[in-house]
Amino acid sequence: MVEAASSLDALQRVRAAVKAHFGFDGLRPLQEEAIGCVLAGRDALVVLPTGGGKSLCYQAPALVLPGVTLVVSPLISLMQDQVAGLLEDGVPAAALTSALDRDKKRRVESQLERGELKLLYCSPERLVGDGFLARLERWNVARLAIDEAHCISHWGHDVRPDYRMIGELRRARPDLPVIALTATATPRVREDVAAQLGLKEPTILVGGFDRPNLCYRVKPRGDILQQVLEVVARHADRAGIVYVQRRADADDLAARLKERGVRAAAYHAGMDPSARESTQERFLAEELDLVVATVAFGMGIDRSDVRFVVHASLPKGVEQYSQETGRAGRDGDPAECVMYYGGADFHGWKNLIVASAKEALASGVEGAMQDVDDALERLSDMWRFATGATCRHKGLCEHFGQAFAVPPGGCGACDVCLSELAVEPDSRIVAQKILSCVVRCEQRFGAAHVCDVLRGASTERVRRYAHDRLSTFGLLKEHPAPKLRNWIDQLVGHGHLRVTEGEYPVLVLTRSGAEVLKGGLDVLLHAPAAAPSRARRKSLESGSVADAEVELSGADADLFERLRALRRDMARERGVPPYLIFNDKTLREMARLRPGDEAGLLAVKGVGEAKARDLGPAFLAAIAGT
Ligand code: ADP
Ligand code: ZN
Repeated sequence: MVEAASSLDALQRVRAAVKAHFGFDGLRPLQEEAIGCVLAGRDALVVLPTGGGKSLCYQAPALVLPGVTLVVSPLISLMQDQVAGLLEDGVPAAALTSALDRDKKRRVESQLERGELKLLYCSPERLVGDGFLARLERWNVARLAIDEAHCISHWGHDVRPDYRMIGELRRARPDLPVIALTATATPRVREDVAAQLGLKEPTILVGGFDRPNLCYRVKPRGDILQQVLEVVARHADRAGIVYVQRRADADDLAARLKERGVRAAAYHAGMDPSARESTQERFLAEELDLVVATVAFGMGIDRSDVRFVVHASLPKGVEQYSQETGRAGRDGDPAECVMYYGGADFHGWKNLIVASAKEALASGVEGAMQDVDDALERLSDMWRFATGATCRHKGLCEHFGQAFAVPPGGCGACDVCLSELAVEPDSRIVAQKILSCVVRCEQRFGAAHVCDVLRGASTERVRRYAHDRLSTFGLLKEHPAPKLRNWIDQLVGHGHLRVTEGEYPVLVLTRSGAEVLKGGLDVLLHAPAAAPSRARRKSLESGSVADAEVELSGADADLFERLRALRRDMARERGVPPYLIFNDKTLREMARLRPGDEAGLLAVKGVGEAKARDLGPAFLAAIAGT
């Protein structure tokens, strides 16, 4: 009782201090809960979207509690902004970063010695060395706040190796309560963050992920300059960010936009620091409306009136996408997020992921292969989101493990609900054909196989199960495989099909799927963007298909990826480089022909008898498992 009363009292004091220092009339519900934890000295993990008000969760209690709150944060510029803001609000705070000169550092330290500071910001690499840990007690550091906490997780999209230093701090001072904060955390990352930080029975507070003021659109990329100009025209003279994949693209696009009279500038890690800083400052000072940036830009940008965020290509994961689009509309006013994508983006990322893993593997980095699988999985999620036709708000919320009920008339703030996507005219019939094929295959096969049957591919497996004799065999052969595969994904997204869990996921019909099949329920399918893949475009341009890589359909491409994973495992087991097992060409052919036995395997180019005997069984099992 006494404790409850005193914490209530403390909360009142926090409210008063928040009003006095920041001028806020109240705390948001989740902030109140988080602050309650800090006041009670309990560990907490706070997951709130960008703009959700995370900082207040540790700043506000710091105002009333005794001792110093140590805030670990990844970016110096971010810390400097925060400290400057706090000082403005009359909160004694400082940052210890490598950017400080000797004198400034000494000044901060003597402020700490005299007990004059409430908040101390610190970059993770400063935590160790310099006798830092030993001095925490003298400085009366009483609790920790870990900002951007996902940076510690291996599963996160933005791992920062120096975040591992926090572990040392935790070991040295296990008594300090911790509040960890992040904007983007899937349930898996969330658990990992709690484990890595060694949180003790943490209260996990997850805020609503939906950003109702953002309108999401995803479109195939055409002439990107024109496309960006269209978006800019909708938000004349307002702030925006365009994300591009490569530095050269940033320079190029920014220059061309400038020619068209847009107050734009580039921002990327390849520029010299002063030029970069100047772009950032001019953007903050509203001398620039538009920044064309690689992902290096945005963290720590405190311009809350960004009206639009454009992605000029597919981001490499939904986490990035959500974080980058999250920089729009932080003031709560409507803002627009438009992504332009093409199939080439997917392949570009994939090549990059694989290449960097090869490099890591070559230099003996452990876990490099696991990283590839994770990165590819995140990329596939992103692709599914982009090509999907489910409400974007729903898709994003569900990615982060939250339910989102789409209102009957649609959310009103995404291209899907606003009916802006190109609709397949024969949606209902196409859907019925797919659903019926799932039923004909006795709901015992995965999307890859169903897709093969529908496109009339005479694979070994199709023949083995006599699926070439099904009435649905070749029923949709006029459509390219990736499109078919995407439609299946859309039906899963709509909830008409379900993918079972387990080692060999199969497609099954849901109750609503059965309704669609009977004609009792209508369904709309969208025509996804069909950008030619890089290999294909090259071959079209050069006029020769002969030496271009054989394009794999979605289904075959999936199998190809699985075979590569198997190859990696076997290579690791045997301590040889993967290409010595089988090369890509051989795996690709395997994925296309899908041999069912050793003789079939021997017919694949690049498979000799020794390998067929030695490696064959594992590969045949993998092929049979699709
Ligand atoms: P995050 O770190 O989660 O991205 P911030 O801490 O920067 O979010 O807060 C986002 C915005 O919300 C800031 O402009 C901040 O001043 C404002 N804000 C935070 N908490 C409150 C509150 N309780 N009442 C009013 N405004 C708030
Ligand atoms: Zn919607």
